[in-house]
Amino acid sequence: MKKLRFYLALWAAKTVMAAMRLLGRNASYLPGKLAVKLCPDFLAHLRPPKTVIAVTGTNGKTTVSNLLTSLLRGCGYTVTNNALGSNIQGGVAAALLADASLAGKVKTDVAVLEVDERSSLLVYQDLKPDYLVCTNLMRDSIKRNAHTGFIRFLLDKAIPAETKLILNADDLICAGLAPQCQDRTYFGVSAEAPATGASLEGLDLVYCPNCGGNLEAEYLRYDHIGRLRCRNCGLSSPAPDLRITAIDRAAGTVTLAQAGGEQTYRLLNDNIVNIYNLCCAVAVLTRLGLSPERIAAGLGAVEIVKSRYDHVETGGLKITMQSAKGQNPGACARSFRYVADQPGERKAVFLLIDDKGDSQGSSENPCWLYDCDFSPLADPSIGQLVFSGPRCLDQKLRAEIAGVPGERIALWPSFRGGGHLLDTEGCRDIYILYDVYLEKEALEVKKALMEKEAGK
Ligand SMILES: [Zn+2]
Repeated sequence: MKKLRFYLALWAAKTVMAAMRLLGRNASYLPGKLAVKLCPDFLAHLRPPKTVIAVTGTNGKTTVSNLLTSLLRGCGYTVTNNALGSNIQGGVAAALLADASLAGKVKTDVAVLEVDERSSLLVYQDLKPDYLVCTNLMRDSIKRNAHTGFIRFLLDKAIPAETKLILNADDLICAGLAPQCQDRTYFGVSAEAPATGASLEGLDLVYCPNCGGNLEAEYLRYDHIGRLRCRNCGLSSPAPDLRITAIDRAAGTVTLAQAGGEQTYRLLNDNIVNIYNLCCAVAVLTRLGLSPERIAAGLGAVEIVKSRYDHVETGGLKITMQSAKGQNPGACARSFRYVADQPGERKAVFLLIDDKGDSQGSSENPCWLYDCDFSPLADPSIGQLVFSGPRCLDQKLRAEIAGVPGERIALWPSFRGGGHLLDTEGCRDIYILYDVYLEKEALEVKKALMEKEAGK
C-alpha cells in the first residue's frame, strides 16, 4: 500500500513536471512539493544514485554545488543537481524525481544536492547522504535562522552517524559538527595568514563550544573564520587534511597540500571566501577518489560562471554591482568593507537590501541592521549614499549611529528607481549593493545610470 502511494505520487509529480515544462514554467520546486504532499516519505522510497553528496552551510552552498557538478560532469559522471532550483525538501525531491525512472530509480551516477540547513531534519531522515559538506556556519537572517547555535543543533540532530563529513577546519562552529560521525575530513587555508591578535568581540563565536572558556585567536581571516584556541580546555581548530598553502594571484594559481604531496590548481576567483569554496570542492572530489591531476585538469577546463559581481565602465563612470545578501549582517558588512577598501576618492553607494518578500505580506523586523557593521560606509572616500526601499529610514538611522554623516545620505522609499538621486557628477565610482531577490531592480538602476551617461 505504501509503495503504491509512492508510485502514484511519483507519476503525478512527473506528469505535473512535464506539463509545467511544456508551458515554459520553472518546475524545480512544485512537482517535488506535490510528491511529498502525496507521499510524506517520498524521498525514502526513491532509489538514489550510488553517491549522494549534500552541500550545506551558511555561505557558499550554491557556489560549491555548481563547482562540484561541473567538475564531476567534466570527469564523465552524470549528475543530479538542484543548485538552480530550491534547496528545501520539495526542491530536493523535484531534482531527484526529474532524473528518476517511472519505477523510482534515479538514473544518474551522483547527486549533488544543496540542502538548506533548516530543511536538514526533513531531508536526511529519508535520504541519507553518503557525504555531507559544510562550507561554514555563520550569522544569517535572524528571523529565519535565529543564531548559529540553533542551526548547529538542527544539523547535529539531523545528520546520520554513517555520513562522511567534509568540514571547514577554520570554522570552529562548523568543525565540531555532528560528533556522532566518525569519518571526518577537514579543509582549510593556511596561506597568507593575517596578523595575530585579532579580536573576537561581536563575532558568532566568543566562548569555547566545549567548556565555555575564553577563546583566543591565533589569527582571524574574516568574521570567526581563522585559527582559534580555548585558553581553558585547549580545544583548538582541527588540523586540515587538505590545505591551501600558497596563493599566487598574479599567476592565478593556488597550491594545495595533502598527505601524499602538493598540487597546483587554477584559482577561479581570488576573493578569500571563494578560495575556501575552491578548497572545499577539491576536498570533496579527493574524498570521492579523483586524483589531483584529474581535478586540476577539470578546474582548468571549468567555465567561470558570472558571479554575483559585475563591473562596467561607460565614459568615465564606473559602475560595480555586488550582491550584499540582505538580512545577512555578516555578508552585508563584508560588501560595505569591500567598497571602503577599494581605491578611489569619489565613490557613491546605492543600497537595495530591504526584504522584498516581507514588504508584500508582513512587516520586516529591522533588528538585523544593528547586527551589521555599517561603519565602513563612513569612510571619507564614499561621498554619497542612496538608501532605497520601504526601510530606508531605518537604514539611515543605523548608518548615522555608525558614524555616517546624515547629509551624505539620500532616501528613496521604493524598490524601483531612485538612481536619479545619485550625484554622478561628483561621484564617478558607483557601487550598487543589492539583495539577491532585488537583482532585477538593481539592474534597472544600472541601466538608467548608463543611459543617462550615454545621453550627456
Ligand atoms: Zn574550552
